[in-house]
Amino acid sequence: HFRGASKTTPTIPDRYYPVFSNETFAVDRRANATFVVLARNSDIDGTIRSVREIEDRFNRRFRYPYVFLNEEEFSEDFIKRISVLSSAKMEFGRISREHWYQPDSVDEEKAEAGRNRLVQEGVIYGGSVSYRNMCRYNSGFFFRHPLMQKYRWYWRIEPDVHFHCDIRFDPFLYMEENNKVYAFTIALYEFEKTIPSLWGHVKDFIKLHPEYLAKDNAMGFLSETGGDTYNLCHFWSNFEIADMSFWRGEAYTKFFEYLDEQGGFYYERWGDAPVHSIAAALFASSSQIQFFDQIGYEHNPYTHCPRDETSWKDGKCSCDPRRSFDYDGYSCMSKWDRLTQG
Ligand code: GDP
Ligand code: MN
Repeated sequence: HFRGASKTTPTIPDRYYPVFSNETFAVDRRANATFVVLARNSDIDGTIRSVREIEDRFNRRFRYPYVFLNEEEFSEDFIKRISVLSSAKMEFGRISREHWYQPDSVDEEKAEAGRNRLVQEGVIYGGSVSYRNMCRYNSGFFFRHPLMQKYRWYWRIEPDVHFHCDIRFDPFLYMEENNKVYAFTIALYEFEKTIPSLWGHVKDFIKLHPEYLAKDNAMGFLSETGGDTYNLCHFWSNFEIADMSFWRGEAYTKFFEYLDEQGGFYYERWGDAPVHSIAAALFASSSQIQFFDQIGYEHNPYTHCPRDETSWKDGKCSCDPRRSFDYDGYSCMSKWDRLTQG
């Protein structure tokens, strides 16, 4: 296996192909996990680049499956060009209308006024309905897709991201065996204009359901005032490794329903990043949230590069640790460190 090319093309003799050591493909244990990629057909080239990188840096050894999701039917070309990139199982799913589009309960006039306001304020994606659909879908629905049901863990990947280091360990197994719920690589401030009313609703929800607050939660990462005000810190959800049983559980289900009823995904422009982050920080204990320093990761315009020198070296990282976003004034990493390292 993994030697030579097909018989119909001129082959290079076997001796020029290394026989991979057992170690390379010796994964005998895997978690119940999948990659999940939300993409449009037009995202094909960037999606290929991302899958290619995660395969090279990680998944050629681990062979975790992939689920690709789209509210339109994936084109034959998309499926064909993606399918050649990995020997892991790949599934391509369509999102149901009810899970994707703006619900009728949203007042469209009010939503339109909200979009216009954000456009005037110069907020990125301020006028976009499809971006709002995407944020709401990632907040409350992707883990309910039929193709996702058989899995507990997921790793979210987006088009045109970069994995800068070899990932030689299995983050899913690490999380499962260490009782983790949510993992991130980059933490930063949200644009306040996208979520002006979100924190008020979060506080109302907590008053209704104080029983969902975890002991030793990470409120200290979200607030300098014991929960009165939100400091806008959140985990950047374009990278996420998490336990879907957390999203599927009672606390998050009620939380998402409550937020969705307020209509803020459309009247404002609530992102799935603050919604996921606030829930993870409040309904899980801070020790269940994992920062993976080892995983060098880039999503334009920010890069996390391992701060630990050994990780950087052993990972054969292609990023510059001195320019890691961790040290940027716009990063919330110092608040995470303060909370978790005292
Ligand atoms: P940004 O990272 O916030 O700038 O947003 P992106 O444009 O990268 O979108 C986030 C993720 O959702 C990416 O995986 C996109 O491919 C995906 N996405 C965004 N809008 C749509 C959409 O309308 N349809 C589908 N199927 N995927 C979308
Ligand atoms: Mn993106």
